[in-house]
Amino acid sequence: MIQDTTRERGPADPPAATILGYPRQGPGRELKRATEAYWSGRQDADELLAAVSELRLARWAEQHAAGLDELPSNDFSLYDHVLDTAWMLGAVPERHRAAVPDIDTARGRLDRYFAMARGTADIEPLEMTKWFDTNYHYLVPELSPDTTFELDPTKPLAEFTAARRAGFLTRPVIIGPISFLLLAKPAPGAPERFRPLDLIDSVLPLYEGLLQRLHAAGALWVQIDEPCLGTDQPDDVLDQVRGCYSRLAAAKDRPKIIVAGYFGRLGATLGVLAGLPIDGLAVDLVGPAAANLDDLEQLGKLSAERLLAGVIDGRNIWATDLAAALTTLERVGRLVDRVDVSTSCSLVHVPLDVGLEPGWGARYPGWFAFARQKLDELVVLRRGITQGRAAIAEELEINASRRAERLASPLVHNARVRERVATVTEAAERRKCPFPDRRLVQQRRWQLPAVPTTTIGSFPQTAELRRARAALRRRQLSEADYQQAMRREIDSVIAEQERLGLDVLVHGEPERNDMVQYFAEQLDGFLTTEHGWVQSYGTRYVRPPVLVGDVSRPAPMTVPWATYAQSRTDKPVKGMLTGPVTMLAWSFVRDDQPIATTAFGVALALREEVADLERAGIGIIQVDEPALREMLPLRRADRAAYLDWAVRAFRLATAAVEDSTQIHTHMCYAEFGDVLDAIIAMDADVISLEAARSKMAIVADLAQAGYPNEVGPGVWDIHSPRVPPTEEIVDHLRTAVAAFGDRVWANPDCGLKTRGYPEVKAALANLVAAAGQVRSTG
Ligand code: GLN
Ligand code: ZN
Repeated sequence: MIQDTTRERGPADPPAATILGYPRQGPGRELKRATEAYWSGRQDADELLAAVSELRLARWAEQHAAGLDELPSNDFSLYDHVLDTAWMLGAVPERHRAAVPDIDTARGRLDRYFAMARGTADIEPLEMTKWFDTNYHYLVPELSPDTTFELDPTKPLAEFTAARRAGFLTRPVIIGPISFLLLAKPAPGAPERFRPLDLIDSVLPLYEGLLQRLHAAGALWVQIDEPCLGTDQPDDVLDQVRGCYSRLAAAKDRPKIIVAGYFGRLGATLGVLAGLPIDGLAVDLVGPAAANLDDLEQLGKLSAERLLAGVIDGRNIWATDLAAALTTLERVGRLVDRVDVSTSCSLVHVPLDVGLEPGWGARYPGWFAFARQKLDELVVLRRGITQGRAAIAEELEINASRRAERLASPLVHNARVRERVATVTEAAERRKCPFPDRRLVQQRRWQLPAVPTTTIGSFPQTAELRRARAALRRRQLSEADYQQAMRREIDSVIAEQERLGLDVLVHGEPERNDMVQYFAEQLDGFLTTEHGWVQSYGTRYVRPPVLVGDVSRPAPMTVPWATYAQSRTDKPVKGMLTGPVTMLAWSFVRDDQPIATTAFGVALALREEVADLERAGIGIIQVDEPALREMLPLRRADRAAYLDWAVRAFRLATAAVEDSTQIHTHMCYAEFGDVLDAIIAMDADVISLEAARSKMAIVADLAQAGYPNEVGPGVWDIHSPRVPPTEEIVDHLRTAVAAFGDRVWANPDCGLKTRGYPEVKAALANLVAAAGQVRSTG
């Protein structure tokens, strides 16, 4: 029996409730467990594949039972959907083919696939990078003019047929040719001027072949994702988009095509999309992307027969304002023959089910919609547009009153905090003196040598530390014993740094599970989840905290640890906080006020912590903003407004200190080009940056931008276990000194928590020796 989940649809058909994609992991992160069991040899290939097919079936069954009319397939992935696409097109680098030459068996195919994802002992994996401005990471295909594409449609076909056998006629999801090529990078050794998009004519026949195969298997619709359309694209790329879809649309024997352009406002690209000779469009209509609807209205009636209206937010976890969504759907209904109710993007960016959080149902009734709850919302809205508002009057009323309850709840609304945020003055964002004057005061106070040495904060997180934290959580360790264990660790981290001869020490962050969660757990206004896992990459999942309301700090968060560390040494200990932008970037953020207001609230809470640290004698304080660059909006037009509030929030958190207190910040993830002015405007006394991987390119960029304060370009790439030799660090430091003179610090690229002690000791010894050499010889 085939359930009617993708009927052949015409103008008269009722709308469908559907989604662009669903979380992959399963309620108990079964996917992670099965995959890791395979990697460690505890399960064989057949066991992994069996676990996976069970999981996929369960996902479809769940979506169907919730009442969705049309289900996606091939949105599942063993590791990453861009990697799947590279595999499907045969874009497998030679080194991965050579590493696993035989793919006649299931094991061989898995091993080659995982070699691309994770590398092997001798070969590098594909590079990994962020998926647009989300916290998901994809594997970057490597292409060159020599890449020989060859279609392997096994995965999309197998998923489609497996679903069909179970009674679900699904809509396969594939990454479109334009985005696939734009997301790829030139393979090592490719000619200078080569752009992956040049290969469009080589990949299009494969897409035509795929469409044909899916059609033959019985697929009526496919969803082709083109998320790159959400970013600024030059006219020649838009021409390619037109050419590409005219050609795919002309293919004989194909399913009907929906092109999905998600992540934000499409602007002029929307006109291109609407003009394509395709059968359906999926458009993000949430948050700032609501403007897509105005733009659509300008364009008039669509020629495509369906529009999947993305009215449910695929990237945040709040219950949808159903009445507002219904209004949007009614407006869309005037523009197209069929409006379908959908999500703004795939739901892989949100956790699976609020129902997994113990007690939340009673404590926060109707506040949240994780992926599973979003299905219910879609179905209600579908009823609303097919049967009219009156048919869902009760749901609308409950939804509205729950929302009102949330916004009025003391957890969300704190009058004192609101008052403080509302009365922030520009003066509060400014240090007392300009940098050159502060610098003199700081030099007198700290008496640091030239090219001072320091680290970014964390020291290796040993198995013992993790065990202690887990034991505390399970109440097998008392709070007092835990404190004792952490103090012992701080003692040894301080002693090690003294032995190495570092100048500015850190306490090592042994007590922090995660640099955002640690603070979220201590601040009012944040909630943390137990099972709210979201895929970061491969089998790595994170649990972003939820910023629900006005943020305040009931008690100091880091002062006892920092002052304890300071009591163990005469050298200065640097206090360590996570900055406001990063707190927001790695959380789910409230939807009831402008994000800048939320950022200022977090900044004010951190400002209190900075003041307490200073009062307790901690006169060097680092406020990390590793996420500042990654929050940068996709579209250039939106960037200035973002950078404005981001910089202001940082300054608000840090500016209240005395001249003699030295504020540091730290950023990682290369590519600082777009944010150099913001880095300058932050006005930290010292910034440490990732630099070693990019061969210190940042030094020239910063110098050229006229960066006036002190800077520590990372001279040791901590992302690999390699220990940099002293001479190499000396070279890096000399490059920096040539650009910044006496304003240079010596430090690694990032925190050391993922490294082991042997390489940390060796590399830091070389770093201290290198700084010594540069000091004495200039
Ligand atoms: N202070 C943090 C650490 O050392 C910074 C981490 C980061 O930049 N991501 O771990
Ligand atoms: Zn870092």
